[in-house]
This record gives sequence, structure tokens and C-alpha cells, in this order.
Amino acid sequence: MRRGLPIETTMPHIGGSDVLGEVDAVGPGVSAAVPAGPVVVNPSLWCGECEWCRRGEQPLCTCYRILGEHTQGGLAEFAIVPAANLLPVPAGYPEVQAAAAPLT
Ligand SMILES: [Zn+2]
Repeated sequence: MRRGLPIETTMPHIGGSDVLGEVDAVGPGVSAAVPAGPVVVNPSLWCGECEWCRRGEQPLCTCYRILGEHTQGGLAEFAIVPAANLLPVPAGYPEVQAAAAPLT
């Protein structure tokens, strides 16, 4: 990444694909329920509209991107992510381990 892979991002860039936190606010137009308590973020970003997304094959999305690589990431106090990408951390599960799982 730092050697200049051909990605579409702006500088300065905030990396970070493994994100754990709590929902602070829900954006306008979000109708999905968001989990309460600790969540991790699926860093896969897809359009939801192309033929691959409609088939449920989001990793093949024609607009597939990764949070923190192609977009600003989660090495920040706050991050904006799609509500559909939030995954609740099970009660009692170690948060550090939960945060390490999404990208890999
Ligand atoms: Zn798509």
C-alpha cells in the first residue's frame, strides 16, 4: 500500500481495516437496526446493486473496496461505515481478538 498500489484514495490517508467500537450515531436514511454494545466492522465494501451483489457474491462486486485501503479507515476515534457491515461482539468474547478477525 505504502509503495503506491494503484488505489483510489486521498492523502492524508487513515488506514485501519480491523475496527472495533460502539455505534455513536446512525446516519440519516439508515433503516437497518444496529447492534448495541461492542461491534466489529466487516471491512468489505460493496455496492449492493451489481449483478454479483444481487447474487450474494459481494466479494466479486464490480465496485469492491476495503475499508482502510480504498477508503479512510478505522485508526481513528470515529469512523463511518455501512450499518450492514456491523457485527456484534458476543458477550464475554475478548475484544482484542474480535477486532483482529474481520479482515483476515
Ligand atoms: Zn456490487
